[in-house]
Amino acid sequence: MSLTTQGWYPGIKHAPTAAYGYPTMAAGTMKPIAIVSHIMQGYQTTMLRWADQRPPTNYVSAHFTINRDGHVVQHVGIFDPAWASGGTHNPTWPLYRETPTERNANYYTVAIEHEGFAIEPRYSYDFVYDEDEHWPEAMVEASIKVQQWICVTAGITPNESTVIGHNSINTAKPNCPGSMWPRHRIITALQNDVVWRDHITDELNFIEESAKGVLGSVDAVRSSLTEIGESS
Ligand SMILES: [Zn+2]
Repeated sequence: MSLTTQGWYPGIKHAPTAAYGYPTMAAGTMKPIAIVSHIMQGYQTTMLRWADQRPPTNYVSAHFTINRDGHVVQHVGIFDPAWASGGTHNPTWPLYRETPTERNANYYTVAIEHEGFAIEPRYSYDFVYDEDEHWPEAMVEASIKVQQWICVTAGITPNESTVIGHNSINTAKPNCPGSMWPRHRIITALQNDVVWRDHITDELNFIEESAKGVLGSVDAVRSSLTEIGESS
């Protein structure tokens, strides 16, 4: 299995876009260090339509889009740069890299676009996620699940520096992902998941060590039997 196929979440819809990657980075070699959440100011169906363009005419992409019902679609492998988080304006993100080759955060982040609106758009829409409208529960749960997979697959430790909003890279976008982004809940869920995984790993190591001990005893008994057989 290549790195590229390893970057695709199994068991969900894949709608690959041609709008991703950069000439200066070899395909499938990106090392993501953080997950950037966005709000679409729109609908998942738009990204699905863009994803079909060959060549792309809309130079926009996220690794994942999640709609209000929790339907997750992946558009770019997580070991390749998507194009959602490139613009930078007075970044507050502590892990932002100033070097000329890494000014573009797309080079080391995974982007998730969530369906809906954080502010009133100029065109027709249904409702804005503000203090009256929380993010839909299905969308939050799906986002947590996707981020768990990203953390495990890319080796990201979830915390305030690695689970960020677009607004911390581009402060000119204060409403992405918006005030209703449940960041604290997401980070806590991801950290609990890590604790849970560590616990299971410890248990498995213990079982493995115990099994080795038992197998050692079996071997000892077997060789004793062989010796008895040979001496009789
Ligand atoms: Zn954004």
